[in-house]
Amino acid sequence: MATSFLETPIEYLKGVGTARADMLKKELNLKTFGELLTYFPFRYIDRSKFYRIDEIKDDSSYIQLKAKMVRIQMVGAPHHQRLVATIRDESGEIDLIWFQGVKWVLEMLTPQQEYIVFGKPTLFNGRWNIAHPDLEIPTTQPLPLSETVRPIYNSTEKLKSKGLDFKGIGKLVKNLLLNEKFAIPENLTSEILQNLRLINRQEAFVNIHYPQSYDLLKKAQTRLKFEELFFIQLRLTKQRSGRLLKLDGHKFLKIGNYVNQFYHHHLTFELTNAQKRVIREIRADLGSGHQMNRLLQGDVGSGKTLVALMTMLIALDNDYQSCLMAPTEILARQHFNTISLMLTGLNVTVKLLTGTSKSAERRAILAGLKEGDVQLLIGTHALIEENVQFRHLGLVVIDEQHRFGVAQRAKLWEKNIITPHILVMTATPIPRTLAMTFYGDLDTSVIDEMPPGRKAIVTRHVYEPDHGKIFNFIREKIREGRQVYIVYPLIQESETLDLKNLNDGYQHIVTEFPAPQYAVSMVHGQMKQQEKEAEMKRFLENKTQIMVATTVIEVGVDIPNASVMIIENAERFGLSQLHQLRGRVGRGSDQSYCILISRYELSAEARKRIATMVRTTDGFEIAETDLQIRGPGDLQGTQQSGILDLRIADLVKDEKILKYARNVATEIIQNDPGLSKNENAILARHLLLMDRNQQNWGLIS
Ligand code: ADP
Ligand code: MG
Repeated sequence: MATSFLETPIEYLKGVGTARADMLKKELNLKTFGELLTYFPFRYIDRSKFYRIDEIKDDSSYIQLKAKMVRIQMVGAPHHQRLVATIRDESGEIDLIWFQGVKWVLEMLTPQQEYIVFGKPTLFNGRWNIAHPDLEIPTTQPLPLSETVRPIYNSTEKLKSKGLDFKGIGKLVKNLLLNEKFAIPENLTSEILQNLRLINRQEAFVNIHYPQSYDLLKKAQTRLKFEELFFIQLRLTKQRSGRLLKLDGHKFLKIGNYVNQFYHHHLTFELTNAQKRVIREIRADLGSGHQMNRLLQGDVGSGKTLVALMTMLIALDNDYQSCLMAPTEILARQHFNTISLMLTGLNVTVKLLTGTSKSAERRAILAGLKEGDVQLLIGTHALIEENVQFRHLGLVVIDEQHRFGVAQRAKLWEKNIITPHILVMTATPIPRTLAMTFYGDLDTSVIDEMPPGRKAIVTRHVYEPDHGKIFNFIREKIREGRQVYIVYPLIQESETLDLKNLNDGYQHIVTEFPAPQYAVSMVHGQMKQQEKEAEMKRFLENKTQIMVATTVIEVGVDIPNASVMIIENAERFGLSQLHQLRGRVGRGSDQSYCILISRYELSAEARKRIATMVRTTDGFEIAETDLQIRGPGDLQGTQQSGILDLRIADLVKDEKILKYARNVATEIIQNDPGLSKNENAILARHLLLMDRNQQNWGLIS
């Protein structure tokens, strides 16, 4: 098959050739015409607008000046000469500097000539200058708009050395647009184009690179953002509808003895309204005959585990087994203990299976599972890695979802002819727009209400010189019988530095809180899992009063007696991390505290993160703020998804377009779940192309 225009290898483009093609591939992963075409400008410069020299105040962006060249000098030792040209406008002067190609540039420059200068100012020795700027002589003729708006592309040092700075890349794109075979097939139906008044695909690609007008630039952006988000949504809704159309879920219609007894005789408190609502949502899924695939979100302590337990009891009432997977052994054990306790007297056989289970015990459990005697299994990923077979597994609950890889989860499903119902629980709140994209194929339930009577955690921000006061506060709390966490940041670049940071902290704490009066624990990421868990256990059993740790303690061990969370260098933590850490306290009946210690001097972002923590304990509000500060790429658990590798759309700014895209996709799939109708052939073809190129979420075909 002849390759299409867009699939043509990039080396065949005018101006590229093999060397540059190699470089483009290595540096920007651009291999084809199509990929270059979706390498969008990250901003545009209006060439009819000029800065005044005295307006330069930050070095963050490219600017354009119009000024006269008043001085040209060679500076420095003979072999390290640089060229410095000073330009002046009515507001001031600035130096232009060349380190390379000095002789050649010198020949080109004309003293007293007025230039249009384009470049990125930097501050050096208190003076602004622009290194290797672009120079042009102003023309008297007005430029057509298509040449007035200049696209700016990201480049790299290596590419620049091959002449591919933003301008060089722009030239390549232009060559592409001017290629005689240039033709972009439409991939949206004319109905969508008309209804949403979107411009066609070819026009959009031309105008995103070389806008004919600002209006067309805007339209091109809207069209391409829509396209990008729409195909993600179309795929997700198609997958979800495919799952719902298959009538192969276990049907749990009965509410029987287990649920009723537990609910009426064992539960010592009233469910919150949010818990009741979520249980209704889950029951509807379980009775539908389709497989449930539900994400349960709720802040730490909002009562997710209880909802999971009720769900497992529904499975039991319908004669099915359940299992609950936790990310660590200690968490699995904790779940096992609480759940066993809550089920006392209900005559349910609950077992715990982890990597350290003794072999005799393991054999007994495995036999029991196969026979169906073991009704409820709790464990770590040993549940999927071992040769575990159930008699009839009906439900899988996964706690703290982001610790489990998708592949690990998939293993579980392979075990069964009929896929069990799945409930994924997470305490990492996910903003709406992200959930729509990241979990678009899952149904979502949210517990947005805390059980009554919880005392809100008191959060304070203090500065490092206040350590003395904090230590006194810790002593007081320990005297009252409480326990304390002290967390140090990870310094990601260096594991050794990391450990040093923590060790220094530990030494300091041990000096302040000496034995035998005090006992201090320490855990960090470089300890073996078993050592870590043993140390956590000492703390859990109140054999130590202070736990010095890195963020390894972020995930869910419940130690109600620990009521103080101290976070050192709080400015170094991300917002959702701070929130997770704070969630370690506030689990008992005592007033809990979270103290964020930082330097005086803080970046605007760090200040905002800390202020947000002090202001609110609402995980969703925190997640939204986090998304706004950082953008989606950094959010926990999303890094490797690839889903967020968006080329043009922005999940924060384009929420409205995302909603349109989702609605349109939903409507289409409702009317044509398999995308098999003639009118939707164009959409089906594009999805197929995306698969074929294994560029699942990319734009281009
Ligand atoms: P999560 O799993 O969401 O962190 P849990 O289910 O572990 O929360 O619940 C935290 C604590 O709150 C547990 O001790 C649990 O027994 C208790 N709890 C749960 N639901 C309620 C409720 N409706 N009223 C009072 N206490 C509750
Ligand atoms: Mg929990």
